[in-house]
Amino acid sequence: MKMGRLFVIAIAGLALVSAVVIARGVAAPGSVPGLPALQLAGGVVVQAGAPLPMLQDIDPEDLDPARDVPGLPPVALAPPGGAVVQANGIRIPKPAMPTGARRVGIQVGHWMTDQVPAELGTRITFQTGTSWAGVQEVDVNMDIAQRIKAQLVSRGYVVDIIPTTVPVGYLADVFLALHADGDGTGENSGFKIAHGSRRGPYEDKLVAGLTDEYAKLTGLDNDVEHVSRAMSAYYAFNWGRYQHAAAAHTPAAILEMGYLSNDHDRDLLVNRADGVATAIVNGLQRFLDEVPRSKIFGEDLIVPPQRSFPSPSPRT
Ligand SMILES: [Zn+2]
Repeated sequence: MKMGRLFVIAIAGLALVSAVVIARGVAAPGSVPGLPALQLAGGVVVQAGAPLPMLQDIDPEDLDPARDVPGLPPVALAPPGGAVVQANGIRIPKPAMPTGARRVGIQVGHWMTDQVPAELGTRITFQTGTSWAGVQEVDVNMDIAQRIKAQLVSRGYVVDIIPTTVPVGYLADVFLALHADGDGTGENSGFKIAHGSRRGPYEDKLVAGLTDEYAKLTGLDNDVEHVSRAMSAYYAFNWGRYQHAAAAHTPAAILEMGYLSNDHDRDLLVNRADGVATAIVNGLQRFLDEVPRSKIFGEDLIVPPQRSFPSPSPRT
């Protein structure tokens, strides 16, 4: 029921951005059928960090009183490379084609949460990860990240180990955030993988390949029913919300590797960590083999003002 109203708001925002930018003489003149007030023939350039007329899907706890208006959707912002508002959506210009070895970003979930920039909000400071039986999630995430790095480097890739704060507009051939779960009971077992609700054309392939390889080598079940909005709206790849995020062109996903609270899963993550890392490396390798760099960075992305698929149910 909300989408109609939200779209009106989005269009209102579009008109506002258009008016502002046209006043500054950036836009090319033109018109769009049905939207006579908008001048959009060549698109309207929106500078990095300026409001974008785009519906935003974020963690409900992440509303920011400094920029969001109570009762309205949270504000989306243009990413570091800027954006162009067109009749058919938001265009994200392609970046300069990277050179050198292919680059992989591995984020260690909860590492250095005390050093986040203001735009991420203070709540992330308190997200220190799960722990069980004396095992801290951040330590497991780091251990497996380092093993992944060693394996990928030996295969000729460049690997960045990334803390909670992602570099501004982070560009890589693939980005993966590592986490582990806890359910407080020890009952749940399995892994989960998701990409963001505002991602590029290759992330379904990334999630599918990782899921396949991870399940095959670890033997864990795909716990897909517990994929949450906190995963699909994960801040580290929410480029429409934060400057410190994986770029729109960077294929990105988040992996919950298993439940630390489950004896079997924890044993796997702690005592067979090399195998877990190999499973992830195989999934990443499969994606990199299937999708060449020339495709990932080869064209502009057009993002519809609304989400292209329904977001998971809000948490209750
Ligand atoms: Zn976590």
